[in-house]
Amino acid sequence: MEKYDVFIAGAGFAGSVAAKFAARGGLRTFFIEKYKTPRMKSCSGIQFKYLSRIIGEKIPQEKLCSNEIRKISIILPNEKGLKTSFKMYNFTREIFDDWLNKIAIRYGAKFQDETSLIDWETEDNNFIVTIKDKEKNQLKIKTKYLIDATGLMPKIRMKQRPQDFENHSSGATINYYFKGQSDLDPECLYQYWNLDFNNMMFAWIYKKNEFWVIGTGYDKDISQIGQNFFNFIKQKYNLEGEIIRKEGFSSNMIMGEGRVHLGSGRILYVGDAAGLVDMYRGLGMDAAALSGRLAAKAIIKAEKNHKNAGILYSKYMNKHVKQTNKNIDKRIYNLKNNDELLTYMKKNMVKMGIKLLYHKFFNKFRRVKNIKLLPA
Ligand SMILES: Cc1cc2nc3c(=O)[nH]c(=O)nc-3n(C[C@H](O)[C@H](O)[C@H](O)COP(=O)(O)OP(=O)(O)OC[C@H]3O[C@@H](n4cnc5c(N)ncnc54)[C@H](O)[C@@H]3O)c2cc1C
Repeated sequence: MEKYDVFIAGAGFAGSVAAKFAARGGLRTFFIEKYKTPRMKSCSGIQFKYLSRIIGEKIPQEKLCSNEIRKISIILPNEKGLKTSFKMYNFTREIFDDWLNKIAIRYGAKFQDETSLIDWETEDNNFIVTIKDKEKNQLKIKTKYLIDATGLMPKIRMKQRPQDFENHSSGATINYYFKGQSDLDPECLYQYWNLDFNNMMFAWIYKKNEFWVIGTGYDKDISQIGQNFFNFIKQKYNLEGEIIRKEGFSSNMIMGEGRVHLGSGRILYVGDAAGLVDMYRGLGMDAAALSGRLAAKAIIKAEKNHKNAGILYSKYMNKHVKQTNKNIDKRIYNLKNNDELLTYMKKNMVKMGIKLLYHKFFNKFRRVKNIKLLPA
């Protein structure tokens, strides 16, 4: 049976960054991905510039979309709002995640796609992991540490903590990929804050290479809500062309209080599997990458100093977990109507903007583990 120091299930942002840093730290690392790579992932692929520091790589231009995001337009329920200059990364997940996987491989991590984690059990001081490859062969792997990076339907966490999941979808998103003409600005990320269109955060529009992406999320009736939003945008911005595809995503993780859990001992959860996606910020890739990096750091330190990796990882993640938990309370989900949302936005928008500029500046000087995830 093959033996590794670290086995990572899932090669999204969290898994590939964890694999890179674990392998770079000299640990025998094996990470797997269920799908054939490069694989698609329902995601807007928009991020702050500090992402480059978190992943520890300069991001080559060819990994980004042909159109840049340079502006953000926030539109309130009364159709008023503000548009401001703000540069962000704009990329597609199939290209970006594949690049991150290759970096981890370059550092010495072993990678296998079209391979799923099926189950795991504890044996003495190790874990025996069962994986299934593309030929449907089941193989057993021995590992000292186990990282769950399988996203919002986390295989390891679901077995350990079934109480964190509902038996129906807790929320869903839909994206329309539209090709054609419009009056929209290709360099702008449009955020529609309106409870008729999204009761979890904002509904979004942006351009990804040749496509306009028009999408939203809701805790129920996502198909109808998505269609309503698309019709509204089509009329408002004179969209002429065709819908190329629709892409959906849903999860049954309970999204309220208690969502964030980092695992313990030698089983660590990272990224969405840890519940770190943040609806208040509208982002999750930065938290996924940071948690992957800090989980690897905790394991390296635990091995060196005979410490408990789970405790170290919790310590490194403490500030970020606190921020994510605080943001769960700030979600717009509990607001009753658009009048309440308008009052909420007017009260918070200026404060949020000032904090954003302040932390954007100071993030350049902070150590990676202390980077403030934005918007704060
Ligand atoms: C519509 C939408 C838009 C978003 N837009 C943004 C955005 O613009 N910016 C941002 O920062 N965040 C955004 N997010 C959030 C972001 O996508 C997630 O927070 C991020 O992908 C989390 O990374 P992860 O590595 O934890 O999980 P994932 O990226 O989901 O990766 C998990 C991986 O594990 C694999 N896997 C699952 N089960 C198994 C198994 N049993 N065995 C092996 N592999 C397995 C999956 O195939 C997948 O590749 C968006 C999310 C959605 C749904």
